[in-house]
Amino acid sequence: MDKLRFRQAQPDKIFVFYAVEIFEQADSRNTFFAELLLPVPVPKLFTYRVPFDLNDKIQTGIRAIVPFGTRKILTGIVISIHESPPKEYEAKYILELLDEEPIVNNLQLKLFNWIADYYLCSAGEVMNAALPAGLKLSSESMVQLHPAFDEETTLFEFSQKEEILLKHLKHEPLPYSEISKLLNLKNLYSILKSLVSKEAVILYEEVKEKFKPKTEKRIRLTAEFTSNEVLEKVFETLAKKPKQEEIILKYLQEVHILQNPKSNFTGIGKKVLLGDELSESSLQTLVKNKIFEEFEIIVSRFEEEVQNLSEVKLSEAQLHAQAEIIKSFETHAAVLLHGITGSGKTEIYIDLIRQALQGGSQVLYLLPEIALTTQIVQRLKKIFGSAMGVYHSRFSDNERVEVWNGVLSGKFKFVVGVRSAIFLPFDNLGLIIVDEEHDTSYKQQEPAPRYHARDVALVIGHMHHAKVLMGSATPSVESYYQAHHEKYGYVQLTKRYGDAQLPEVVLADLSQERKSKTVKGDFSRTLLQSISDTLAQKEQVIIFQNRRGYSPMVNCQDCSWVPKCVNCAVSLTYHQYRNALICHYCGYREELPQQCPTCSSKRLLTVGYGTEKLEEELKLHYPDAVVQRMDYDTTRVKSGYDTIIEQFESGATDILVGTQMVTKGLDFDKVSLVGVFNADRMMHFPDFRSYERAFQLITQVSGRAGRREKPGKVVIQTSHTDHPVLNFILNHTQEEFYNTEITDRREHAYPPFSRLIEIMVKHIDKKVSRDAAYKLTEVLKATLTEVKVLGPGEPMVSKIRNHFLMTILIKIPRDSGQLHDIKQRIQQAINLTLTQKEFRTVRIVADVDPL
Ligand code: ADP
Ligand code: ZN
Ligand code: ZN
Repeated sequence: MDKLRFRQAQPDKIFVFYAVEIFEQADSRNTFFAELLLPVPVPKLFTYRVPFDLNDKIQTGIRAIVPFGTRKILTGIVISIHESPPKEYEAKYILELLDEEPIVNNLQLKLFNWIADYYLCSAGEVMNAALPAGLKLSSESMVQLHPAFDEETTLFEFSQKEEILLKHLKHEPLPYSEISKLLNLKNLYSILKSLVSKEAVILYEEVKEKFKPKTEKRIRLTAEFTSNEVLEKVFETLAKKPKQEEIILKYLQEVHILQNPKSNFTGIGKKVLLGDELSESSLQTLVKNKIFEEFEIIVSRFEEEVQNLSEVKLSEAQLHAQAEIIKSFETHAAVLLHGITGSGKTEIYIDLIRQALQGGSQVLYLLPEIALTTQIVQRLKKIFGSAMGVYHSRFSDNERVEVWNGVLSGKFKFVVGVRSAIFLPFDNLGLIIVDEEHDTSYKQQEPAPRYHARDVALVIGHMHHAKVLMGSATPSVESYYQAHHEKYGYVQLTKRYGDAQLPEVVLADLSQERKSKTVKGDFSRTLLQSISDTLAQKEQVIIFQNRRGYSPMVNCQDCSWVPKCVNCAVSLTYHQYRNALICHYCGYREELPQQCPTCSSKRLLTVGYGTEKLEEELKLHYPDAVVQRMDYDTTRVKSGYDTIIEQFESGATDILVGTQMVTKGLDFDKVSLVGVFNADRMMHFPDFRSYERAFQLITQVSGRAGRREKPGKVVIQTSHTDHPVLNFILNHTQEEFYNTEITDRREHAYPPFSRLIEIMVKHIDKKVSRDAAYKLTEVLKATLTEVKVLGPGEPMVSKIRNHFLMTILIKIPRDSGQLHDIKQRIQQAINLTLTQKEFRTVRIVADVDPL
């Protein structure tokens, strides 16, 4: 386990130098000031004074702890060092420096500024998003015992205060503020620094979950039995107990403690030691007699045994595509690989990654959150081994710090990660891969910076002179357009690997079937029949429905009353397993009433289908089939996701129902039917991207059907069988879909023909929110005469968490060339509005390139 890069502690040093410093003012030593980037939403640097004894330690790119305001402490990054004191105020002192080497490089600082500039936020906010919480000690930090800490075996000594703290932490993690009270210390950094370096505690941010490492049971010889002589005696006494003797022999065979005594420390996995032949109970006896001991070690999540993967040779088509990519890189910094589902894009990436690493540069491979599965990570681990780091938000901060430090030290030349991996301290990237480049999870929504990782990847590529490869079976309309207008290279893969067939797509006409009364619940006969056929052939089914919960709405049959959230302007979703009505925006929850609160009727009906209800009805229709559900609710527990996937992969599950989680990154052999439960809602969502979304989701989920030998089948339930989007999918005419969509976007001046900036105004008072929005619009219209300012208007959901929302949309022509200037004027307009007395408590958020 890597530690935070803390210097060795010198307890209470700080208080000493405060005192000393007064006498040393007249000294001839230089007085330095440092400009710090702090994690606050103010777009400027802050000047702090460097205490003399840190004069030779201070350098740019390292972390410094500073007081902020009257009570807070924050971790900042040193940006520059100079000797001119600030004019308007007296600079406070830096409390401590945390690093001996920079942890942030110049390219990153440049990037932070670029992101702040482009996405209208402060560089401090970008830094805050960039650094894993484990690298930021602040007054909001939480402290917990290190999971591997054992007071019996630790080699370190602890001060009295440290011991007091450790004792308290045994019961529960504590926030910084409480520890401060507990120990009666204002500044905790030196004691925390010391404890972190002794691997006794770890720090995290409260919002994040606790670090729960994966552990493995292991066996080792107890300390006194590790010497040769003692062991010999043991063998003598065990001569009559061959089973126990065998275990010790096996141990010595596997763990070479005689050559290397240290190897006893990590011991051996229990399963490996016992294998199939040796006896568990004999081992227990050895443990009871204190010859062996059991202990746990933390294992990396991905270093489990990897099944042997067969050697991969690229097919003709793959080799051809790869050659085209490389050729295209000669003239383009970025290339779009448009390869249908199952065409084998991953293998092409792997080959290119290998080449880039051999060339000596770093590689970043970005994947959307839910596509970064154990499946792909294991495959990559097998190939790239310990040179590869995995950066995932399902990981704890500690693991993220490990990857950050690994990139810094050069241990990880290659990182596969989600969105935030773009912030890692690379200094020599040669290749960036953005897989599933169309995926909306690349865009961060809340809080700032509201960046798009694909677009930032292109900027990073430019900074590093690296090549960027974007891949997708369903590229975003924007990328598709750029690729067809020479901005990116464009390479196509139109065949599935191994000539697997594309699935047959069938529309289940709901309105027709309703007329002929063949619909049961919302299941068409077409879909039910297809499921029966598939199950009869012992093959698997995926049913996709993009709504979780039981029913998205409850409705009184007599007076049409609908339960609504008390905090948000949305109806509550019924969740049956919790028997509760839940708001998907704020989490508000109440019991389902027995009768209607307005008319007392008992005829309350659940309306519509969420995944939970689908699961229930599928179980009724197919009592012999095993049905599993994969959505936010069933995957919230840490292992939920992996377990569901494993069970489906092993064939234990027959039908998998899920939200868009089932559309991505899954590669299963036995799925021959995919059902899209309701295509209509996706297509009729009032947003200019709804056709694109529907097209992508349906195409992606269809891609899960019939990979390898068997051709698959896709059944799409719809009441609009003549809808153009469905027909493009039905006829596999992707190109036409894109052309139609591009024509439409051009006509209405939507991206890629314009850039959008959405401004959201929020306040708990509806009138204040409206007034501020109107005022801001007025200012914007006056200053932005060359672009379109639309609004203000209420968004679809006009109240969230008791805040009333208003939006303003700014459409900037693509060729305006004044983006930077326009953004500055927008920021000024926002600031101007916020300085008005009545709007001081209003929140105004700008979202550049909203999705
Ligand atoms: P995509 O990401 O383009 O949808 P994948 O990379 O998942 O496609 O590949 C589809 C399937 O084909 C996977 O099961 C993959 O292991 C297999 N495959 C792809 N290329 C090869 C190859 N060259 N040799 C063997 N199997 C391959
Ligand atoms: Zn009623
Ligand atoms: Zn709500």
